[in-house]
Amino acid sequence: MKLQDFPKDIQPHLIPRPSGRLIYRCLGCNREYGIEKLLYTCPACGQVLLLEDLEFDRLKAVPGATWRRIFDFRRMLNIPSVKGVYLFHEFVGPVIPLNAVVYLGEGHTPVIEANDRLQEQVGFRFYFKNEGQNPSASFKDRGMASALSYIRYLIQQGHVSDVLAVCASTGDTSASAALYAAYLQPDVKSSVLLPHKKVTPQQLAQPLGSGAVVFEIPGVFDDCMKVVESLSENYNVALLNSKNAWRILGQESYSYEIAQWFDYDLEDKVIVVPIGNAGNITAIINGFLKFYDTGIIETLPKIIGVQSGHADPVYRYYLEPDEAKRRFSPVHVKPSVAQAAMIGNPVSMPRVIHLVRTYNEKARMQKVFVVQVTEQEIMDWQLIANRNGHVACTHGGECLAGLVRAGQNGWIQKQESVVLDSTAHALKFSGFQDMYFEDRFPKEYEVTSRPELVNSPRLVCPADLKQIPEPGRPLSGEALERYVQRVAAEIAGILGLKRKSGG
Ligand SMILES: *Cc1c(COP(=O)(O)O)cnc(C)c1O
Ligand SMILES: [Zn+2]
Repeated sequence: MKLQDFPKDIQPHLIPRPSGRLIYRCLGCNREYGIEKLLYTCPACGQVLLLEDLEFDRLKAVPGATWRRIFDFRRMLNIPSVKGVYLFHEFVGPVIPLNAVVYLGEGHTPVIEANDRLQEQVGFRFYFKNEGQNPSASFKDRGMASALSYIRYLIQQGHVSDVLAVCASTGDTSASAALYAAYLQPDVKSSVLLPHKKVTPQQLAQPLGSGAVVFEIPGVFDDCMKVVESLSENYNVALLNSKNAWRILGQESYSYEIAQWFDYDLEDKVIVVPIGNAGNITAIINGFLKFYDTGIIETLPKIIGVQSGHADPVYRYYLEPDEAKRRFSPVHVKPSVAQAAMIGNPVSMPRVIHLVRTYNEKARMQKVFVVQVTEQEIMDWQLIANRNGHVACTHGGECLAGLVRAGQNGWIQKQESVVLDSTAHALKFSGFQDMYFEDRFPKEYEVTSRPELVNSPRLVCPADLKQIPEPGRPLSGEALERYVQRVAAEIAGILGLKRKSGG
């Protein structure tokens, strides 16, 4: 819709202008730092940072109902820079001018309700939010759009030039970083570090296709992360891991979209999210807090984080009920089908601890929970979901398994409805599906195939056919007719099809 066709009172608010005053806030010593420099940890104490708007109160001066109208009308604008995560510009990056925004189609992912059959099986009303429908096929694009828009803004300001963006990755961060960096050629180049053989072939293909310099190194993600941290401390590179607070800011849009999808009524809503490096749950919590503080939503939804028993440091931390006694210890990960979350020492843990406390305090009750699921449950539920019309990745399966576990724990009530984060597209992790269907999971995964979930193609090539078609050598006449009849008859036999009467 054209600007002049919107209601008069809303027109001045539709196209966001740069506003606010963002700073990096240290979660360790509370110091603040200006954003004209790329900063990942506190120079004074080494803790992780979060971005904070010192003028956030100006957003509270606008009534929640007005914000809701602004976002709902803004959604009808056909201006690319506000189509993605910057639809929520005032919350996601108010200082970024729209001409610096990199929009590659990220965000506005659909929320798909499960069919009756699956909801009955699970026992709750639930939906998948399909983050696999982002441009690089995972939610990481939300944060990358934010981080790269900020870098483009710094370039435009003359603060930086010839940026080399680096990241360590379990697969999706590098796919996303390489994609967004490629768009900003030649000002931005990218280089990604992957744990050798610990990302899927599809995820390896992505940064290669985008032209990034790709390094495979021995070890697991946590080792890669250490190397990248060393690079970013000692060399002039831009770190694109979720240690980078701009990533978190962009990923908050996930929460804003859920709020908007449900017309800002989050009463009796539950959000389920897998936890790896814990950037995503950090962003989701922070996003809901900001919408709550500004009266855009009136209820903080329940949030359930899910971890596999093969990589569960956050789950273990919250096992201790007494907050004063909780101690964080990293774990050594074991192979996991939720491979993008196979992380033993999450970088965002301090952010999680800080934000979970704030969230529960504001809600005046426990609203954040963490559950643990098995590898077997992750695979089984992923396959069951997809046999009911979804395109959930293994992490989507992990969320569904987490929902079932949370239900068993009595943490979800019948009247609540649940949004599961399918963080990537199923196709990225199809290798795990192959292993399941062929029942050849290496022992360490602890997954065996349930026959009723196995599927495999059947080759139909009748032995009595003398001639079969091949590329460049098509059949014709009688040979073609015979081929068609024999193959069709065999398929009809396998499927048990009945002949049409009178045919
Ligand atoms: C990165 C990723 C995760 C984990 O998210 P964190 O922010 O690291 O906790 C989960 N699923 C997929 C598909 C991912 O790419
Ligand atoms: Zn500090």
